[in-house]
Amino acid sequence: MLDRFNRNINYLRISVTDRCNLRCTYCMPEDGIHLLRHEDILSFNEIRDFTEVAVAGGVTKVRITGGEPLVRKGISTLVKMISDIRGIRDLSMTTNGVLLRQFAEELGAAGLQRVNISLDTIDPEKFTAITRTGNLNDVFDGIKAAIKAKLLPVKINCVIKDSKEEEDARAVTRFCKENDLDIRYIRQMDLVRGHFSVVEGGTGGDCSLCNRLRLTANGKLKPCLFSNTEFDIRELGYVKALQLAVEIKPECGSINDTGTFYNIGG
Ligand code: SAM
Repeated sequence: MLDRFNRNINYLRISVTDRCNLRCTYCMPEDGIHLLRHEDILSFNEIRDFTEVAVAGGVTKVRITGGEPLVRKGISTLVKMISDIRGIRDLSMTTNGVLLRQFAEELGAAGLQRVNISLDTIDPEKFTAITRTGNLNDVFDGIKAAIKAKLLPVKINCVIKDSKEEEDARAVTRFCKENDLDIRYIRQMDLVRGHFSVVEGGTGGDCSLCNRLRLTANGKLKPCLFSNTEFDIRELGYVKALQLAVEIKPECGSINDTGTFYNIGG
């Protein structure tokens, strides 16, 4: 699917829930979050059917994200339903890793190919402070489980303030080298102020190369993370929503003051 700017739109990111088992300071507001009603969240069949339409249109790469995708009940069943769609060449998940010890094996068996795991520090106290609740050992166990289940390459998403030379980022870099993990540095972004930048080691953040569409857990298809534009797949129908999102995908991001990282999935 070529858009107005000749970009080949072949990458769909699906947020399967807005719920998360962590409360990262840069992702969720301190005063709590407004959660979607359960009945508004797309069912597995809706997600599968929309993904089929997107793949028929030319999507070859699918990422499952959240919220935290592993807190969605029956996630491995959904992964299997998506991996059964012919035409997907790359099926991945972005997760905080906390529940991977429990799920890595069955996700691999369901057809998940690889994972990105978020890790901003290897200092246990700082980890608990950043996530407001998490235990770093759960993530380390999750990384080991992902490697054992061959969800490779395991990539680490490390959020930085300004530079990968910051103390925490350097320590995460060393940890990745020692454990043969890929790393991507994501500068802390602000959707409302329109602060975004290129992901170092990844492909995100460069508008001229953007090939992404994002489906939120309640069925809004977003052609750009940094824009309020979205198309409701239930109201418009899957084909029309897809067509409009590709047609109207902006040349470059600006601001998004209607969505958040935890409901769009980053
Ligand atoms: N819960 C999963 C996780 O932690 O990876 C998936 C969802 S999370 C919203 C996806 C990615 O967005 C994570 O790598 C996270 O670090 C990143 N993220 C969240 N808020 C961000 C922000 N304000 N700026 C940059 N990246 C952010």
